[in-house]
Amino acid sequence: MHYFDYNATTPLHPAAKEAWLKATERHWHNPSSLYREAGFAAQQLDAARERLADILGCDAGRILFTSGATEANNALISQGTREDFMLASSIEHPSVFMTARELKTDVPQIPVDEHGVVRLSALVKSLRVAPGLVSIMAANNESGSLQPWPEIAKMCKAAGIRYHTDASQWIGKLPVDGLADCDYITGSAHKFGGPKGVGFLVLSCEDEKLSWLKGGPQEAGRRAGTENYPGIEAMVTALEHCSVGDAAGRDQFEQLMLASFPGLRVIGQGGPRLWNTSLLVMPEHSNLKWLTRLTRRGFAISTGSACSSGKEGSSVVMQALGAQDAELRRVVRLSSGWDTTLEDWQALAAAFVEVGAELAS
Ligand code: PMP
Repeated sequence: MHYFDYNATTPLHPAAKEAWLKATERHWHNPSSLYREAGFAAQQLDAARERLADILGCDAGRILFTSGATEANNALISQGTREDFMLASSIEHPSVFMTARELKTDVPQIPVDEHGVVRLSALVKSLRVAPGLVSIMAANNESGSLQPWPEIAKMCKAAGIRYHTDASQWIGKLPVDGLADCDYITGSAHKFGGPKGVGFLVLSCEDEKLSWLKGGPQEAGRRAGTENYPGIEAMVTALEHCSVGDAAGRDQFEQLMLASFPGLRVIGQGGPRLWNTSLLVMPEHSNLKWLTRLTRRGFAISTGSACSSGKEGSSVVMQALGAQDAELRRVVRLSSGWDTTLEDWQALAAAFVEVGAELAS
C-alpha cells in the first residue's frame, strides 16, 4: 500500500519497536515497587524523561507523560488553568476547542489568513483583554500550515499570559529549537514513529501543580496510574530517529495535480507549511468517491483530519477559511512520511488522473 495518511498516524519506527520490546522484556516491573528490578525500571523511566527533556531543551521536571495529545490537551485545559477565559485559534484540534468550549465561559477564536496562518494582528488585540491562557497549535494537522509560535510565545510572555502550543504535528517533522519557550507543549508519539497511546504535556515549570488523574504519586502526583515505561522508551527512541523531510515530492505532486485538474485548490500553498502535507479541494466529485477509488488502487488518503474522517464535510481548516458545504465535501488530505519517495508522490498523482478519468466516464 502507498500510505499517504501520516498526519493521522505513522507506522512504528523499527528502532522504536526494538526499544519497546527490550523495555517490555527487561523492565516490565512496576516502577513504584520497592525491589531492585522495579528500581531499574524507575531509573530507565527517569532516563527516558531526561532524554526527551534534552531534545526539547527543557527541564525534565516539566514533562508529564500522558496517553497522547488528546489527553495532554484535556489535562491542561481542564486542570492546568483555573481562569474561565482563554483564547484559541480557529483551527485548533477538537481536543483543544471542544474541551475549552465545554469548560470555559468565554473562548474567542483568533482567525487565520487565506493561507491558514493565525492573524497576529487579531491576537495582539485579543491579548489586551488578558485571557488566562492562549492555545495556538504549532503546525496544523489538515493543511500543514505552520503557525508563528515563536512570535506568539514572545507576545504572550511580554503580556504576562501563558501560552500553550499543541505541537503534535510539528514535533518529529521540524526542529524543536525554541519550542520550550512556550509555557505548555503537547506532543504525541504515534505522529512521529512511536507507539499509539503515549504522549506528553510540557508544563510551564518543574513545580507546577496539576492534579489530572488522582489516586497515586506517579508523575510527581500529577497523573496517577502505573507508568507506560515501554511506550515512553519507544516514543523517545522514535523521536531520536526523526529527521526533517524534503518537500520536493509533495511540491511536484501539487504541480502535476494543478496541471491535470483545472480549478483545483491547494490550501496553504502560498504560506509556510509542513514538508509532508497537501490539502486539496478537488474541482469535482465528493472526497469519498476519490478516496474509495484510490483505496482500490492501493493508496491510503484522508478526507480531512482523522478525527473527522468518514464524514464528508468536516474539515476544521476549511470551515475556518469560510468554505461552503459543496467545497467541504471535496477536500482531500495527503500526508507523507520520512520514507515516502518522489516516485510514490508521482504514482499518487497518476492514480488521481486515472480516477478522474473513471469518474468522468
Ligand atoms: N492534536 C493534533 C494537532 C493532532 O493532529 C492530533 C491527532 N489527530 C491530536 C491532537 C490527537 O492526538 P492523539 O491521537 O495522540 O490523542
